[in-house]
Amino acid sequence: MLRNKLFQKLKNRTPKNLDKVIHEFHDDAFKKISCLDCANCCKTTGPLWTKRDRERVAKHLRLETSIFENSYLRIDEDRDYVLKELPCPFLENDNQCSIYDVRPKACAEYPHTNRPKQHKILHLTQVNADICPAVENIVERMESIYSKNAKKGPKKELRQ
Ligand code: SF4
Ligand code: SF4
Repeated sequence: MLRNKLFQKLKNRTPKNLDKVIHEFHDDAFKKISCLDCANCCKTTGPLWTKRDRERVAKHLRLETSIFENSYLRIDEDRDYVLKELPCPFLENDNQCSIYDVRPKACAEYPHTNRPKQHKILHLTQVNADICPAVENIVERMESIYSKNAKKGPKKELRQ
């Protein structure tokens, strides 16, 4: 609940330097956490596959796009292409991605905490904290500086 309040507060009154703060926390988190020791995103949540993703990966696998789609993907209730099964079939036993160089854009950008305009994806960051240990670490640090009881409040950084 407290976390909900914090995210609502950040959405309503976004600190001017929110991107800078989150990007710094992102860099710090990924210095400590290795995706190859984790792979939780690939095990528990599949990416959305754009047309470009499907065509690029199919070509890489030397498959017709329709055959690739029928083999690996399904269309969900929002009409999006998603994986038929989890963990992702392209995740290898050592947590490497077998299609890393051509992986979907959503995989390449995950967990999105180094993107600009963080205030627009705060809802996503809050959800991803339950999936990604790096995001959980980022959010814990956000709580430590932006929560009501933090010693040093964000007042001077508030956007008008
Ligand atoms: S959940 Fe986060 S830390 Fe784990 S593999 Fe995915 S991006 Fe890396
Ligand atoms: S395509 Fe690769 S990076 Fe994306 S979910 Fe599958 S294993 Fe993970």
